[in-house]
Order: sequence, then C-alpha cells, then structure tokens
Amino acid sequence: MEKTIRVTVWNEHRHEKQDPEIARVYPDGIHGAIAAYLRDQPGLAVHTAILDEPEHGLTAEVLAETDVLIWWGHIAHGEVSDAVVDAVQARVLNGMGLIVLHSGHLSKIFRRLMGTACSLVWRELGEKERVWIVSPGHPIVEGLGPYFEIPHAEMYGEFFDIPQPDNQVFISWYQGGEVFRSGCCFYRGRGKIFYFSPGHESFPIYYQPEVRHVIGNAVRWAAPVATTGFREMHLFPNVPVPLDPIPGLVESK
Ligand code: ZN
Repeated sequence: MEKTIRVTVWNEHRHEKQDPEIARVYPDGIHGAIAAYLRDQPGLAVHTAILDEPEHGLTAEVLAETDVLIWWGHIAHGEVSDAVVDAVQARVLNGMGLIVLHSGHLSKIFRRLMGTACSLVWRELGEKERVWIVSPGHPIVEGLGPYFEIPHAEMYGEFFDIPQPDNQVFISWYQGGEVFRSGCCFYRGRGKIFYFSPGHESFPIYYQPEVRHVIGNAVRWAAPVATTGFREMHLFPNVPVPLDPIPGLVESK
C-alpha cells in the first residue's frame, strides 16, 4: 500500500484579509482553495499554515511531519523570519518536497534555494495564457494533453532569473507575445522543488481543474523517496576506508 503523503499548504494570507474583492474570489483563502482540492485526493493528509501564526505555522514539529510544503506569498515576503527560512531550507535539503506557486518566486525560501534574483517581468491585464507541456514523460503532466489554457492570467515573462531547471515541464505563452518557463523542477540535496507560475490572487485560477491537477501531480512527484543510511546534509564526516585493505593500494609494496 502506498504511504500517505503529508502536505502542508502555506499561504501568507494577507490579500484575502485586506481586499474584499480578493476575499470574494478566495473566501477560505488561497490555502483553503488548494487544500480543499488536495483533501479530496487519495493518499494525502493535508494541513494548512499561514504567516500570522506563531513561527508562521511552520514549527519544528510541523516541518518534521511535512513531506511536501506548498508555498504561496506575495506582499509579505519580508515578514517571513530568517529562522523559519533556515528551517525550511534544511528540511528541503534533507528530503522534503517544496512547491512554490506564482508570486512565491520572490519568496525568501525560493531565492535562497535558487541563489539568483528570481526576478521576471509581469503585466496584469487578465490576458489568456496557454501552458504548453514540454516534458511529456514527466509525472507532473500525467493526465494532461499537449497544452491547457487559463482564460484570464497575469503575464509573467522572460527573462526569469533562475538557474536552468533540472527539468523544464511547462512553458507558457501569453496573448501579448511573451513566453515564460512556468513549470520548473529542481533538485537540492535530497529534496525536490517545483515552481509553478499560474495563480494570481484576483483570478480564480486555483479552482481550475487543470491547475489543481498539476498541483496534485506535483505533490506526488515532490514527495520524498524512501531511502536509508543518508546523513543529515549539514554533516560532512570523515569516513574510514570501507574495505580493509584496499586491494592493490594499501598493501602494495
Ligand atoms: Zn500575481
């Protein structure tokens, strides 16, 4: 039987509190909309956390019990404490999956893990976005066709200042002519990271079936693989010679 994947959906949850128009789109918060979909999927145990909770809801206990963390932030990246960023980074390096959504490209944790500015160009006209699959064998695209469309999206365009992804899964085209690397996979230590750009706060994108489906697939892809015997990634021990003696080396005279 498949092991249950423990998911924490994190949201800064500020737009929904400050702007009634956005609260109308996401009455339960962006985290609530994503969590509601994931709770209907088999094999997932779903938890939510927000910025205003103690330690942003990401205590050592919560992180230790999270296999995949989903991150949505926009206007309060600077309020995320560096101690929490350190703890999330350490969990990713030791195997926790991380899914960074939309404006999370400028979050402290994503920039920390990428090591670049993670900047891009943008335009908020509600134009059409066509999301093309450019890695048709990848588990994140299971169940999808060659592309899907988001009728009203915020344009995110190149150049997107990230390291070249380990797998490029989606490239988006916009009506205005720009393209964007909208689905990017990275490996860091034992952990997997997926950046997925759809999801502006004033558009109901996290209710769109294809977008939800991608997030569900990404959770399964990003979940840690079962391994044994790996050290904690911050350790760098001196190790004894595993064979005694090493033939032709230790005993050659
Ligand atoms: Zn946006």
